[in-house]
Amino acid sequence: MTGCPPKRVRVLIAAPLPRVFTYEWCLGESPVFGQRVIVPWGNRLRVAMVHSVVDEFESPEEFELKSVQACLDDGVLLRGDWQQLIEFAADYYHYPLGLIALECLPKALRVLNAKGAEPVMVAKSREYALAARAKRDELTESNNPKVSKPVAPPEFRLNSEQKSALETLAESKGFCCFLLYGVTGSGKTEVYLHAIAEKVAAGHQVLVLLPEINLTPAAQKLYEERLKPFKVVVLHSNLAELTRTKAWYLAALGVADVVIATRLGVLTPLPRLGFVVVDEEHDPSYKQQEGMKYNARDLAVVLAKQRNVPVVLGSATPSLETWQKAELGQYKRLSLTTRAVTGASLPQVDLINTANFKPKEGLSEPVMQALKSTFEAGKQSIVFLNRRGYAPQMMCEACGWVAGCKHCSTHMVWHKREKALRCHHCGAGQRVPAHCPDCGNQDLTGFGRGTQRLEEVLALLMPDTRVLRIDADSTRNKGQVEALLEQAHSGEADVLVGTQMIAKGHDFANVELVVALNVDASLFSHSYKAPERLFAQLMQVAGRAGRRASEGGHHARMMVQTRYPDHPLFASLKAHDYPSFAAHELQGRLEARMPPFSYQAMIRADHKNLGNCLEFLKMAKNLGEDLAREEGVVFICDPVPLTIVRVAEVERAQMLVESESRPALHRFLNAWLLALWEVKTSTRWFVEIDPAEL
Ligand code: ADP
Ligand code: ZN
Ligand code: ZN
Repeated sequence: MTGCPPKRVRVLIAAPLPRVFTYEWCLGESPVFGQRVIVPWGNRLRVAMVHSVVDEFESPEEFELKSVQACLDDGVLLRGDWQQLIEFAADYYHYPLGLIALECLPKALRVLNAKGAEPVMVAKSREYALAARAKRDELTESNNPKVSKPVAPPEFRLNSEQKSALETLAESKGFCCFLLYGVTGSGKTEVYLHAIAEKVAAGHQVLVLLPEINLTPAAQKLYEERLKPFKVVVLHSNLAELTRTKAWYLAALGVADVVIATRLGVLTPLPRLGFVVVDEEHDPSYKQQEGMKYNARDLAVVLAKQRNVPVVLGSATPSLETWQKAELGQYKRLSLTTRAVTGASLPQVDLINTANFKPKEGLSEPVMQALKSTFEAGKQSIVFLNRRGYAPQMMCEACGWVAGCKHCSTHMVWHKREKALRCHHCGAGQRVPAHCPDCGNQDLTGFGRGTQRLEEVLALLMPDTRVLRIDADSTRNKGQVEALLEQAHSGEADVLVGTQMIAKGHDFANVELVVALNVDASLFSHSYKAPERLFAQLMQVAGRAGRRASEGGHHARMMVQTRYPDHPLFASLKAHDYPSFAAHELQGRLEARMPPFSYQAMIRADHKNLGNCLEFLKMAKNLGEDLAREEGVVFICDPVPLTIVRVAEVERAQMLVESESRPALHRFLNAWLLALWEVKTSTRWFVEIDPAEL
């Protein structure tokens, strides 16, 4: 502790620059990391975060420094553990620390209102959380036995596999990464709940990550019911600002015992953290696609390691990188091999060869019959089609015109109900034209099939059934997802038509048939991850059927329409054999030296002209060649345009950097990016570590 306050301080600012900014410090108390302050920036005021104090022996700046105007808090929430995590993230993802530090805070904590002051909402939320904390401490003092011992309802006694998984979890001390590999419906949630109950009773905070916002309401309800009276909060990007700020304070002040969150939750300060759960760890939604392109699953493992607490990654179809680590013994595998509910079984998988059974309106005869008999037996069906809208293209059969997007190199998707054409890449929309703009023909038709069209066809072919569509379009408004899912659960619908939105996580009691359409494109995609993604999707959607005991000899069933029933992926699917699929896929990756047997970074360039993008990347490649040669094992590929070159008037190209050594790759990136930051260019560029899409 020094007596007099220091003179200069470095602060973090949400700016796309990989550096800190120095200001004069004339305020009373000593600054500490994480303290939010107001600083002048250009001709306005901004919220910044104290990074460090400048040593008094360091040479003074050559220019006059501006002063920190005010302190917004004492920084206690954002110290230590949290700093370690965001510093790791900034390093690993090669992303400016200032951007990540400020952008992962709720908006109210990093903006100023019109008067240049902190929004009132912040103080309100803080007071709310402090009051909740005070109330809680009373509770603890009274030593209420109910508070320290939550009891899971007796009807959920664990089966022997669940019990042994739980015991292994409970025995672990300090950091350990577990893979809870359990087939769909094997009762992974029940294992999490028991493990969490033990942790919260011991005074720890637990972070539970889920891949989708629409899975959080059901999770919150379940966890609140089962963990009473412990405090459960939810954090995701769709919350009203005040709700999110309050929940954030509850988490950061250690009031919340369980924090259920989507990917952004991993960057929340959690002072009492004792346990981390990442459900559906394989899910691509854990990858942030804008700003800092982090993978929340990976950061969750880092977080657990830094805090020396156990983390559980759960999935029926683990990502290949996780599976590989389990195979190597780096992660501890806990297996649940059967469905938990007595009498429930995994569905029988049938492949319908569309060469033999020509689909009418997308649906083959065997599929139609199965849908009808399932309906007659009073059971529900799911028809899975991962493409929303009415038709992916609108065309004129007279002259061949196809509706394209003005701003992108893609087709517009026809949304019949909204009488609109929409671009799924840039969001542009327009009314459906009355006639062909090229030849005047009034008979425009849809080419291909999306969920809207499927819904229409099913309603026509099965007039007595209630068809419910669940996709991003039917759930656009607040509360709509919950309402539709509620309808599905309560049996108000007979056939659910939907995208991957219905495939994930939901525990539907009455679904006996699952139909998967239009899967062939993914079998032959150029993306090396496409088979992994397709397999996971099909296993997950299959997992929605037969989750309760079957009665009357009815058996859960999945039907997949395909022209390629002999594809090896389907053999594993039919056998519900994820390990065989993973072994086959990993062998292929090994031979091709693809992740997880190599490490990748992608550099992307965006400009109005593709030429500029390619030119920039070529320059970058030249700049990097010597550095790469120094490392020996780093390889820079050639720049290539993206498959969809133009989106929202911007043309895009990318260049892959690969290495068999992660440390070599990152050493190379550090040196290379440092040089690239200095390059003056009108091309916008960024790097992505462990890129998801290639
Ligand atoms: P998963 O997350 O593995 O897909 P869930 O946790 O949703 O599976 O469990 C599937 C169903 O099995 C749920 O309805 C759950 O209540 C039930 N269940 C879980 N554990 C048991 C058990 N030990 N005995 C009976 N039913 C169970
Ligand atoms: Zn025409
Ligand atoms: Zn577009």
